[in-house]
Amino acid sequence: MGTSITFASGKGGTGKSVVVVNLGLALAQMGKKVIIVDADVAMANIGLMLGIERAPISLHNVLMGENSIRDAVYEGPGGIKYVPASLSIERFRRLDYDKLKDAIAELEKQADYVLIDSAPGIGPDAEAAMKAGRETILVVVPEPVCLADSFKMKTFAEKQNVKVRGFVANMVLGDKSEIKTADLETVLGVPVLAVIPEDVETRRSTALQQPLFLRTPNAPFARAMRQLASKLTGEKPRESKPSGGGFFSFLFGIFKKK
Ligand code: ADP
Ligand code: MG
Repeated sequence: MGTSITFASGKGGTGKSVVVVNLGLALAQMGKKVIIVDADVAMANIGLMLGIERAPISLHNVLMGENSIRDAVYEGPGGIKYVPASLSIERFRRLDYDKLKDAIAELEKQADYVLIDSAPGIGPDAEAAMKAGRETILVVVPEPVCLADSFKMKTFAEKQNVKVRGFVANMVLGDKSEIKTADLETVLGVPVLAVIPEDVETRRSTALQQPLFLRTPNAPFARAMRQLASKLTGEKPRESKPSGGGFFSFLFGIFKKK
């Protein structure tokens, strides 16, 4: 029996989907069984990010009562499984969001970690995603507007009796204009779980529809995901082996032999 975590934010574009995909891959690398669920049903980004666009049965079919959640689980890259949302827009108005919680509970039986990618804001879709997970992690960009929205989200979550485990600070530049992580913790009243730097490889991977964790496993974003995975599991992070060794380790190998 696994657990489930919802990734939420006040506004869109803070990095929920890339965190869910790449954290999922980092957990899978540690040997965990991972299912990621695209519960941002209006946007359906996960399939696109994984480079998989054809999936006949989606979360939409499940929330419409047409299929069981077990029929909507697909094999993804890097050993993860995922439940896609449908790319068609006209279907998403008739969904019964109350079905999400039972669906997630069913997935927990098959996985160590069920990671739920939520819609932004406090609409019925985001509320259902929060209530469906055992706990919520907020994805926060350290700027005033995002912090204000994140505070609202946290208050909203508490009103629904949802446990907010903490937040991840994303797109961190590390310059003076930004709100400091310690100040984010003070305002939000929950701990920081990861500080993820602004990393140009993230946008490249999204554009190429190849998960960053697999394409550039040593990019700063991927490292931050390994640390977050280690924090969540309580196990040591696994450093990714540099692919092919590179020129210097080749030289080093020659010297070691002598
Ligand atoms: P959300 O799901 O919260 O709407 P996304 O995960 O789709 O946000 O991310 C929005 C965009 O920002 C994507 O193009 C993504 O690649 C980019 N992005 C996310 N995190 C970072 C980061 N740390 N550095 C650079 N770009 C990022
Ligand atoms: Mg998204």
